Amino acid sequence: MLCAVPGVGASPAASRASARIPGTNTFYISTRRSPGLADENDLLVIDTDGKILSGKGTPNSEFWIHARIYAARPEVNGVVHAHPLACIALTQIGEPHRVVHNQGGAFAGGIPEYDRIGLIRSRELGDLVAQRLGKGIAVMMRGHGITTALADVRAATVSACFLEESADLQMRMLAAAGGDAKRIRAFTREEAELTGGQTGPSVAAAGRAWEYYSAVAEIKPLGG
Ligand SMILES: [Zn+2]
Repeated sequence: MLCAVPGVGASPAASRASARIPGTNTFYISTRRSPGLADENDLLVIDTDGKILSGKGTPNSEFWIHARIYAARPEVNGVVHAHPLACIALTQIGEPHRVVHNQGGAFAGGIPEYDRIGLIRSRELGDLVAQRLGKGIAVMMRGHGITTALADVRAATVSACFLEESADLQMRMLAAAGGDAKRIRAFTREEAELTGGQTGPSVAAAGRAWEYYSAVAEIKPLGG
């Protein structure tokens, strides 16, 4: 199981994927050790109230993000929380995410922002993140990172990778344009929806993108 998310893990403890046990209020998540070092033997089973049902060790301190999103969204079976640098940079300059390339199309509907800083270490804060996420597939977290929530863990993982790639491109474009956001030829809603249908995370998770990111995770197990 992929516990670290390649390309979006800027620090050794920076990314965490979880997967719901289908049809239940329980999910798999790795223990508190660096996700890059975790494997299937380190998985805990936790319920949406934060109770550890099986496994040895303690969960990552931000497991409440995962628990409360699964509680709020029965159709979500995969959650990724990560601290990717370009996404953090976007939040800190007050720039909303914009769709600037094909793989960004999945986020055509816009990405809400959770603007309270600090780690999500309580049920109440987990509920606040879930509220900001709403019915969406991603939430930006100011000065902190991102969380994605989709129908399965592969799609949630690919989505997190795409979002960081998109934010990184947006930052480069902003820099090349001298900081003038108006010069970026962001996709229209129609363009973004077209590319989202062609390359979105659910499509990508079933194909080459997942193969690619899985291979990268094998080569760079520390999430770099
Ligand atoms: Zn975090």
